Amino acid sequence: MKICKNCKAEVSLNYCPNCGSPAELTRIDGTYVMKEIGRVLNFDRGILFTIRELVVRPGKTIRDFILEDRNRLVKPIVFLLVCSLFYSLIQQIFRFEDGYVGYSLEKDSTVAIIFKWVSGNYGYSNIIMGIFIAIWIKIFFKKYGYNFYEILILLCFVMGMGMVMFAFFGMADSLLDYEIVDKGYTLGILYILWAISQFFDGKKIINYPKTLLAYFLGMISFMIGIYMVGGIIDFFK
Ligand SMILES: [Zn+2]
Repeated sequence: MKICKNCKAEVSLNYCPNCGSPAELTRIDGTYVMKEIGRVLNFDRGILFTIRELVVRPGKTIRDFILEDRNRLVKPIVFLLVCSLFYSLIQQIFRFEDGYVGYSLEKDSTVAIIFKWVSGNYGYSNIIMGIFIAIWIKIFFKKYGYNFYEILILLCFVMGMGMVMFAFFGMADSLLDYEIVDKGYTLGILYILWAISQFFDGKKIINYPKTLLAYFLGMISFMIGIYMVGGIIDFFK
């Protein structure tokens, strides 16, 4: 009898009967690394699969993730962080205008510093924005019975996709020397609104204006939050 390294149960087979961990962990080798890379890029799971599913049928894909199967998609918070990082990288390489959270303020104010942090750290700031938007969506779509965290997961997926779209339009903008980055931001936001409505019920027309209003109020609350925090800090300085 061996002892499971994970949960300390007795193991007589290849896998622990209690927690499912393999009894013997094999050494890391080339096969392991290739498998790992394959898993990330796999069209049946992985990031490309996740993106494809979120483009074609976002509502059903995210509902299935929440209610049925969590193994096929990339984990939502990781997805949002990776997509945001991808956007920032592409934006710095191609140097298109960052119009996602644009700001123009006097340089010394704390509010300006916070906005600068926001646009320098889209990964984290998207999660914070998501929290604000999730609160409003929870209020507007209360009767669907999803809890706050499930809505936050929905937002991680759709905002991640938004970042990917912003990045591609920005890239196209600087490669084609044609002003389409602003249309990219509009399209990205439209995708986010469409996907959220699909998630709840795409056939209900009322869900589209409700999503728009919840998203808008979420962004406004986020901005007000920044102005309040910045204002309080400046006041005491
Ligand atoms: Zn175990």
